[in-house]
Order: sequence, then C-alpha cells, then structure tokens
Amino acid sequence: MIVAIDGPSGSGKSSIAHAIADRFGLTFLDTGAMYRSVAAECLRMGVDPEDAEAVAGVARDIAIEFGASEDGQTVTANGRDVTAEIRTPKVELAVSPVSANPAVREVMVGLQRKVGKAGDVVAEGRDIGTVVFPAADVKVFLTASPEARARRRAVQRSGGNLAQDSAATADPEEERRILADLKRRDDYDSSRATSPLRPAEDAVIIDSSDMGFEDVVAKIASLSPA
Ligand code: C5P
Repeated sequence: MIVAIDGPSGSGKSSIAHAIADRFGLTFLDTGAMYRSVAAECLRMGVDPEDAEAVAGVARDIAIEFGASEDGQTVTANGRDVTAEIRTPKVELAVSPVSANPAVREVMVGLQRKVGKAGDVVAEGRDIGTVVFPAADVKVFLTASPEARARRRAVQRSGGNLAQDSAATADPEEERRILADLKRRDDYDSSRATSPLRPAEDAVIIDSSDMGFEDVVAKIASLSPA
C-alpha cells in the first residue's frame, strides 16, 4: 500500500501524513526532510548550494536515517542529528536550488522507491504521485491558500496548536515574513524545470483552507485505493 500526499509548503502534509501513518500502520516518509538534509550537509561542508556538480556529489554520498523520539521524527545525515537544523531559515534558503538539481532528484527518488519496495508507506512531498510512485494506491494533492498556510506555520512556530485552538493567533510580523517565504518557495517549486509542483492527473485535490485537521484526515481515510 502506497499513499502519496503532495502539495505546497505549509499545506499541512507532514502532520496529516503522520496521522494517516499512525491510523493505518504505514511507514511515514518525509521526502522534504531528505532534500533538507542534503542542503544541511552542503552548508556544513562549505559546498555552494548553486554548485550543481558538488551538490550532486554530496547527494550521492549521503546516508539519511529516520528515527523516532518523544517529540516526533528524528533525522540523521551522515550520522549527525540534523532534526532541528533542517528547519532553520539557512537550510530553508539553500534547499530550493538543491532540490531543483536533477542529479540530486535522481538520487533521492531512488532512495524513496527503496523505502516503498520495503513496505507500506505514506510519502509526502512534491512529486510523489507524479514521479516517485506514479502507481500509488491513493494520491492526494493537499493545498490551502498562501494566507492560511502562513497562519498555520506562524501559530505552530509560536507554540500554538490550531488543531486544539482554532482561534490561536501569531505575531503579525512573523506571519508576513512566513507568507513572503512561502510565496517565494511556491514560485520556485512550481516553475523549476525538473519535477515542477503539480497534481497528478489522478490525484484527489483537497483544499484545506477552511477545513479542520481531523476533517482532512477523515477525508483521506475515506478514499478507496485505486
Ligand atoms: O516539504 P518541505 O518544506 O520540507 O520541503 C523542503 C523543500 O524540498 C521544498 O521547498 C521543495 O523545494 C523540496 N522538495 C522537493 N520534492 C519533494 C519534497 C520536497 O523538491 N518531494
């Protein structure tokens, strides 16, 4: 069983995919964390994220491992815990050119397919239903307005939880900064030549702008495998 969940940054893919993994006993595969790990390793090694050849080398050699802690999923890259580092603004800036690099994508897609071969998976990313697992049993394209996505990210970063308190608010300045960054990454992801972000033809499109967390999980859980 393969469940593919694609969508733009901040659409809630990670938490939704986690919930689906728990509910159906599937392995959760966060492909964004893999591209982020390559970007983090480039920065650590002093490799320019725009240097396509050097970045491809980092991707070919990298060992990425997922683990679990009380706070959720952990990620190690070449044996180093990068769980927190891959969420920093520095890595967030570097990950766009890294993930637009065709050689990096080839390596990452190969690693992701290995995980799919090994067992039942819910994978989330940008190209899961279109490239990584085109024959996935369930394909979802999860989206939301940029404003709704920025608000969720801002509330999450300020320690709030919209799933528990739908009226939670965040610092407006922080929300504006996040919105600008989301729009920059949306443009980059949808206009790049390699695997631009788009829904698979057979994906079910879910706009979660006005939906609660549980409603989205229930909607996906109700989809029958193709
Ligand atoms: O989903 P997340 O924000 O963690 O992804 C980080 C970056 O990795 C995104 O900005 C996107 O450019 C890239 N990405 C990708 N293909 C995937 C997953 C993520 O290009 N399958």
